[in-house]
Amino acid sequence: MKIALIAHDQKKQNLLNFVTAYEPIFKQHELFATGTTGRRIHEEVGLDIKRLQSGPLGGDQQIGAKVAEDDLDLVIFFRDPLTAQPHEPDVTALLRLCDVYKIPVATNVATAEIIVRGLENGWLDWRKLKESVGLYHE
Ligand code: PGA
Repeated sequence: MKIALIAHDQKKQNLLNFVTAYEPIFKQHELFATGTTGRRIHEEVGLDIKRLQSGPLGGDQQIGAKVAEDDLDLVIFFRDPLTAQPHEPDVTALLRLCDVYKIPVATNVATAEIIVRGLENGWLDWRKLKESVGLYHE
């Protein structure tokens, strides 16, 4: 599966803790991240991860483009709901595209936990079936 990992600054440590806890699962998948999030995951957890631009410099839009190309299976985005973000329109656009393309998206650790456990149990395997994905696009 192709998984995008993003965290706003105040949530980066939460995401690092989360990725560390589930490292055995994450290392089985192809990982993508916005710039700073990806650098920290690589340096502090040691996972291979494809880094895109930093979020405020277009990284969220790059993740959104991958969603629109059906080139991502899961987005984990630990948002900071208490701090204004200069790139809030990009964040909104990414979440909108996840809804358009029915891509599972977790915006907090509680939801992410359920989705990653589901990933481990094969509950996202439908993503591997392009025919069923097509049904979800209607
Ligand atoms: P960053 O971007 O990983 O480069 O910090 C995340 C974001 O703020 O969207």
